[in-house]
Amino acid sequence: MNKVILKKGRDWSVRKHHPWIFSGAVESGAAGQGETVEVVSAEGETLGYGWFSPASQIRVRMVSFDATRVPDEKFVTDLVASSVGRRADFFVDCSTNGVRLVNAESDGLPGLVADLYNGHVVCQFTSAGAEAWKATVAKALMTYVPGCQSVSERADIDVRKKEGLPYAEELVVLEGVEPPALIEIVEGPIRYYVDPRKGHKTGFYLDQRDARAAVGTLAAARDVLNCFCYTGGFGLYAATCGAAHVTQVDISHEAIELAKKNAALTATNPDQTVKNFSTQTVFEHVEADVFKYLRQCRDEGKTFDLIVLDPPKFAESKAQVMKAARGYKDINLLAMKLLRPGGILATFSCSGAMTTELFDKVLAEAAADAHKDFQMIARTRQGADHPVALAFPEGLYLKGVILRSMS
Ligand code: SAH
Repeated sequence: MNKVILKKGRDWSVRKHHPWIFSGAVESGAAGQGETVEVVSAEGETLGYGWFSPASQIRVRMVSFDATRVPDEKFVTDLVASSVGRRADFFVDCSTNGVRLVNAESDGLPGLVADLYNGHVVCQFTSAGAEAWKATVAKALMTYVPGCQSVSERADIDVRKKEGLPYAEELVVLEGVEPPALIEIVEGPIRYYVDPRKGHKTGFYLDQRDARAAVGTLAAARDVLNCFCYTGGFGLYAATCGAAHVTQVDISHEAIELAKKNAALTATNPDQTVKNFSTQTVFEHVEADVFKYLRQCRDEGKTFDLIVLDPPKFAESKAQVMKAARGYKDINLLAMKLLRPGGILATFSCSGAMTTELFDKVLAEAAADAHKDFQMIARTRQGADHPVALAFPEGLYLKGVILRSMS
């Protein structure tokens, strides 16, 4: 096995179990794409083993911090099995069958994401090492996920290019049957169709599950504007909790079409907790650019009781943070102005580079410019199936704030 020797004094983050070794920390040593390497300190001590990525600035991703445990096929299979095992609560609880099974670095499997949609697993492999172990990972998921019918891969993700991995549009089945065109999943009182081939990421935003439920509890009898709605999640939750009117806005035609289907599907859910769902809530679906739509509402004098802002990632890296902050301020300021007295703003950032502190600051500036006072009534974050390893704070990317207007 090839060795990677670290520069003097650059071993401390590995000793704290941070999984990334940047190229600048490497004194010597190389290997092929995705090969397992032994990581050695400048003093000659073996610190563990990692996956080598020749094309990436993150040159090695650690998978074993134990000098005596070389990550072979059994080791990788066990990592997958334990990650699935940590989701046992979800399988026992059964209130959802859409669950993230492996959350990359934070589950000890760098660059591997695996999401379960009602018996069908969809993966993304974004590190050379995860790619190299694809067959082992797929077999392990098929074996250890209860009721697993298929394991597929989506390779249409830009970060694969940075890693020197091929980009492919089509979903590829790695194990089991061909998944259906639309997979029906349950999330509490909601039912959704998930498109595993063309849907965003692996098909759906499982990470906002808790935030959707939190927003739902505030929605009774309210006029709700759900911006960047994708396939409708926040709006559907609001409706099951008795919202009077829900306006769903997204720029994507496909997303809006699926949001309409999901509204119809959820309305027929026999487990509905709120009675008369279909007659209570009036849905409106709008295919539009939110930046323009909010301005149009302002110009037309429209107002709302509850606004959700869940935009896509505005900052891909630290260099883009200031530009992203301007984008966040713009939409939050506009939304704050559209809120009726006592109204609620549920606002999110999924940009990892945008810190909680900076996001709070942007919101405070927006409120000041809107000449309104707000109270923070809750914070949200990615759900428990998207854990953040303590040694890997970079894993926290999704932050949410729920604000109430005091005027
Ligand atoms: N809230 C959703 C997830 C939102 S993801 C949920 O709970 O599932 C972000 C969404 O923003 C995507 O659906 C994308 O199509 C949409 N989007 C991106 N830019 C947009 C814009 N300028 N205006 C409206 N929608 C936009």
